[in-house]
Amino acid sequence: MTEDTIYDCIIIGAGPGGLQAAIYLGRYNRKALLIDRGGGRTSHARHIENFLTQKAISGKELIALGLEQAKSFNVSIEKGLVTNVVRHEHFSVYAGEKEYLSKFVIVSSGATENLPPIENIPKFFGDSFFTCIDCDGYRTRGKKLVVIGNSLHSVHLALAMKEMYTEDLSLILYTLVVPPVYIEELAENGIRVVTGRPKRLFGRERLEGIEMEHGGTIACEVVMSNFGYKLNADFLAGLQLKKDADNFKFATNRHFESSCDGLYIVGPLTGNDQAIIAAGEGALVAIELKKRLLEQ
Ligand SMILES: Cc1cc2nc3c(=O)[nH]c(=O)nc-3n(C[C@H](O)[C@H](O)[C@H](O)COP(=O)(O)OP(=O)(O)OC[C@H]3O[C@@H](n4cnc5c(N)ncnc54)[C@H](O)[C@@H]3O)c2cc1C
Repeated sequence: MTEDTIYDCIIIGAGPGGLQAAIYLGRYNRKALLIDRGGGRTSHARHIENFLTQKAISGKELIALGLEQAKSFNVSIEKGLVTNVVRHEHFSVYAGEKEYLSKFVIVSSGATENLPPIENIPKFFGDSFFTCIDCDGYRTRGKKLVVIGNSLHSVHLALAMKEMYTEDLSLILYTLVVPPVYIEELAENGIRVVTGRPKRLFGRERLEGIEMEHGGTIACEVVMSNFGYKLNADFLAGLQLKKDADNFKFATNRHFESSCDGLYIVGPLTGNDQAIIAAGEGALVAIELKKRLLEQ
């Protein structure tokens, strides 16, 4: 079923990036539609403390406030999963049974955490089980920390956490054999390297430790997990957009326009994984679209 309306812009994803773009476009009196499936990364952030003016706000609350603000500027909001975007004269955006038409598209669909197969993660996720030093490193200050990963990046992360936040640190590496140069550096920094796989996080209310597959336990209050994330971008596959040199993130110009004319991408899909940065990018794209819509 195709809608009659041709939107000025369809925004895919109601995280900070999409919501900020929606607020600007609404205030430009443009016909904007925001489509979101719900349950994105921001909604897992229990305590955002680094967003200007917000001493501490949960991701869910940030999104609820953003949706309210976007609605107040007449942005249309639909709950739905976008499954395909096609470029003809206009863009066709498919969600459920519906096809929506638009002159421009902003993709702000974020990413999804790669989590290791450890029992009980949902109980502690965002509270004492973290995945991002910029988001939650500060919350590990002075605590008994375990870094879990399987790459040299995880080794660097452990060294950074030691320098910035805590003395009491263990590093669990699944299969990576630590190169000798790092063994020395880790030892000098008092970082314990543990081999083996974690099985389960335990703790009544607060995290108390990790049970290992081989049976032992490691006491800890916080965990920093380091397995990266995958981009929420399956619905863009048909557009064959250009990627960066690592063939992971999408390549864009300085206005965040992808290799497809009129399709803009913000947030982790193009490189930055912080709420305030995604919001800034959303604002920049909306300002650019103000100009392009006036030119049309
Ligand atoms: C536990 C945790 C804590 C964090 N803490 C902080 C913090 O303290 N400070 C900070 O700056 N950042 C924090 N972040 C990171 C922050 O959430 C991201 O930077 C932010 O999500 C990026 O915003 P975004 O708008 O690009 O994407 P998101 O917030 O991920 O929003 C994307 C939206 O798009 C939706 N979506 C995805 N695919 C589709 C589709 N096909 N169709 C329709 N909708 C779709 C998703 O469901 C989601 O609602 C944290 C992340 C996590 C996981």
